[in-house]
Amino acid sequence: MAGIPPSGIPAILFRIPAFPSSIVANYFWYAGNDVSLVPPPFLPQHESQWGLADCGRAMASVLDIQNLQVSYSSREVRSRPVLSGVSFDLRPGEILGVLGESGSGKSTLAASVLRLLPPNGHIGSGAVFFEGKNLLQATFEELRQVRGARIALIFQEPSLALHPTIRVGEQVRQVLAAHQSLPRTVLNQRTREIFTQLFPQDAERILRCFPHQLSGGQRQRALIAQAIACNPAILIADEPTAALDPVTQMEILTIFRSLREKLGLAMIFITHNPALLSGFADRILVLYAGQVVEWGPAKTVLRSPKHPYTKALFESLPAISTENEKSRKNKLPVIPGNSSPSSLPRKGCSFEPRCALRMDVCSEFEPALVNLGETHLVSCFKYKD
Ligand code: ATP
Ligand code: MG
Repeated sequence: MAGIPPSGIPAILFRIPAFPSSIVANYFWYAGNDVSLVPPPFLPQHESQWGLADCGRAMASVLDIQNLQVSYSSREVRSRPVLSGVSFDLRPGEILGVLGESGSGKSTLAASVLRLLPPNGHIGSGAVFFEGKNLLQATFEELRQVRGARIALIFQEPSLALHPTIRVGEQVRQVLAAHQSLPRTVLNQRTREIFTQLFPQDAERILRCFPHQLSGGQRQRALIAQAIACNPAILIADEPTAALDPVTQMEILTIFRSLREKLGLAMIFITHNPALLSGFADRILVLYAGQVVEWGPAKTVLRSPKHPYTKALFESLPAISTENEKSRKNKLPVIPGNSSPSSLPRKGCSFEPRCALRMDVCSEFEPALVNLGETHLVSCFKYKD
């Protein structure tokens, strides 16, 4: 699915005037590797207008997703499950890495949180608690106040997420304007300030550019500016560095890290590359065929993955340096088959057909998540309570 518009979401984004946000933008200064945030003119307004009374779990977590079931319908298949029983939470200021191969449902998960699925996407059941409110039951007006303002989403493909015929400065200005009635001159001034801090050398030129006139890294930074313009509590970034070279990837990660440190922003960082999560994510959630198969502290999962899928995924990555010529020529192991959830109901563990360590029980029963300690959860029969 990489490179394909994530379920038509960008088109929806531009049709919904509600997506851009409110409050006031935070500004951060970008200069090579040294990224620091200028304190925002106003403190982030993270307190809920709804209060927290109706959600005890949301008190400790900034986002709490429970048993999310999502399916897509098509002419051929009435309902094809894509996410099954996905549950996790996001703590304040945390970076949660969501890891999974193509088709595992990562973008669907991101879109589901804000109910931005395409018309053929259907949320069957579950709950998404944010600031004490279940977003899956929120009214359109309540959602409008959350989308882009309280939870910002950076879509998978920057060149599709940015409007191709509107200058990037104007796109950020519209985000501010959609949620705040300020005079045009003030909005322009704020937009200019954001760009000056993101692109210190070249702000005036960049904000007048159309997306196609920018490099991939510059487009990504323009999207980040749009996303943080209204002081969101949560940023969901869907493979924000996938199309970038390693140096630019690191620059973007540095920006995200800085945002977290200076603004206390919690972040869901979606990727298929575990290497990016090392030293960056606090916890890692591994998604396989729309199910959580492993979830735990990033250090633990990266150092000692437990689920056979996570292990196989890590083993299939090339080492950056190899000790000798012979090992460089060794073929990398691949995981046979693919991870797309089947449209037909099947028994057992979803990874069983591809698992080198499968046992008889795996084709009969579905494993539950088992806690291995330190909140390291794994769904595999190799580990029992
Ligand atoms: P990638 O890493 O390639 O971006 P992903 O993990 O984000 O993949 P999704 O885009 O969420 O995966 O797709 C999950 C599954 O849902 C895939 O099998 C995909 O074909 C299917 N899917 C996604 N969007 C739609 C849609 N609009 N209609 C029908 N099926 C869809
Ligand atoms: Mg995706």
